[in-house]
Amino acid sequence: MTFNDLKLIPEILKALSNENYTAPTPIQEQSIPAVLEGRDLLGCAQTGTGKTAAFSLPIIQLLSAQKSKPSTIRRIRSLILTPTRELALQISDNIQAYSKFTDLRCTAIVGGVSQKVQERALNNGADIIIATPGRLIDLINQKRIDLQHVQILVLDEADRMLDMGFIHDVKRIITKMPAKRQTLFFSATMPPEITKMVKTLLNNPVKVEITPVSSTVDRITQSLYMVDKANKQKQLNHLLQDESIVSALVFTRTKHGADRVVRELDKVKIPAQAIHGNKSQNARQLALSNFRSGVTRVLVATDIAARGIDIDELSHVINFNLPNIPETYVHRIGRTGRAGLSGVAISFCEHEEIPFLKDIEKLIGKTIPEVKDNPFPMLITTEPVKKAALGSSKAAVSKPSNPKANPTRKPKSEWFTKGSKSGGNSSSRPSGNSSRPSSRPTSKPSR
Ligand code: AMP
Repeated sequence: MTFNDLKLIPEILKALSNENYTAPTPIQEQSIPAVLEGRDLLGCAQTGTGKTAAFSLPIIQLLSAQKSKPSTIRRIRSLILTPTRELALQISDNIQAYSKFTDLRCTAIVGGVSQKVQERALNNGADIIIATPGRLIDLINQKRIDLQHVQILVLDEADRMLDMGFIHDVKRIITKMPAKRQTLFFSATMPPEITKMVKTLLNNPVKVEITPVSSTVDRITQSLYMVDKANKQKQLNHLLQDESIVSALVFTRTKHGADRVVRELDKVKIPAQAIHGNKSQNARQLALSNFRSGVTRVLVATDIAARGIDIDELSHVINFNLPNIPETYVHRIGRTGRAGLSGVAISFCEHEEIPFLKDIEKLIGKTIPEVKDNPFPMLITTEPVKKAALGSSKAAVSKPSNPKANPTRKPKSEWFTKGSKSGGNSSSRPSGNSSRPSSRPTSKPSR
C-alpha cells in the first residue's frame, strides 16, 4: 500500500515525501481511512509504530478541507492531549512537518517554559494545539484558550496520563469542549478507569491494535547481565568501553540514580547527560539535542522523562534498573529499533529485580538471553528477596503474572484479542519462584 491509496491530499503527500516516508505503517493503513470518515478511534499501539502520523495526517486533511474566509478568526479545531512535555513537543514538530504545505497552524502548550511565547502563538491563531494538561488548564482558567470549537480530540497515552495523576485534569478539559466531536483515544493498557473513559467518550469506535507487545520487541536484540547492585556502575562503564555502542539511552529507576550514573560516567570520561523531572525544560531540551547531535553519547533517563522521546537511529537501550511494570520494559526498549531498524537492548538485573525480570519475560513471551561472559557475575545469594525491597510496586508484590490478580495492569496484547499472545513460553520455569539457570541466584524471592 502507498500513501496515495489512502486518498491523502497532494499537500500532505508532498510533505511525506520530504520526510522520506515511502509507505504507510500498519497503524497508519488502518487508522487513516477511519479517521477521514469521521469515525472515533480506539488505538492500541506504542510509540515507534508511526502512531503520530496515523492520527495527525487525517486531522490535517479534515481541517484543511474546511475552507474559511481569510477574514475569519482562526479557532482551535483540534486538541491533542499528551502526558509529557517532550511528547507534546515531538508531536508538534511532526505536525509542523506534515502540514508544511497547508495553511494550518499548530502550537504546543506545555509547562516548564515561559507562557509568553505560547500566548503569542495563541493570539496569532492556532488550528491545532498539542498540550499537556497542567498548562492547558492554566490557560483555560486565564481565558486565553477557548475549546468551544474543537472538532477532533486526541488523547494520547491515556494510561500514562492516569499513572501521572492527570486524569481529573483531562476530564475537566473535556467538559470545556463540545460534546459533538470526533475522539481518537490511544492507550497501551486498559485499567478500569480508562475502560470507563473509553465507554463515555467514544461513540462506536474503530478499534486498531498494532503489533502486540511480544512481536514488537522481536526485532530488538535483547540481553541480560545478572549483576550485583554494587557492581552495576562498573558493569556499565565496562560495557561503554565498546565503541560500537554509538548512542545509548540508559534507564534508571530514580532521578538521583540518573544523576549518580552521569557523575560516575563523567569520572571515566564518558560524555553523558541526565534527563528527568527535576531538570528545567530548557535543560532537558539541551540534553536531548546534545544527544541527538552526538555531543553526548549517553543519555540517562527516568521513565517519565523519557516517555515519548523520539530519537532516530538510537543504537542501544540499557536498563540500569529493571522496571517494576513489565509494559514499561517494552516501552523502554522500543526507543531503539524504530521504524523497522534493528536495535539492541541490554538489561542489568540485580537480585531484588528478579521478580520484575520474570514478569517481563512472561509479558514478552520469551527468556532474555543471559550474557555468560560477564566480568561482574552476580554472587549467588540465598537471602530471600524481601517484599518491602520490591518498592511500592503493587504489580510485583501481587503476582502480576496472573492478570486477574492485578486487573489494573492488563497486558495490552490481551486487550482486543481473547487469546493471550503474551502468555508466552515461560512455562519452562515454574511461576512463583525464581528458578533461574544455575548461574543465576538460587534463592526463591517471595512474590
Ligand atoms: P511515532 O510512533 O509516531 O513516534 O513514529 C516513530 C518514528 O517513525 C518517527 O521517527 C517517525 O518520523 C517515523 N515514521 C512514522 N511514519 C513513518 C513512515 N510511514 N515511514 C517511515 N518512517 C515513519
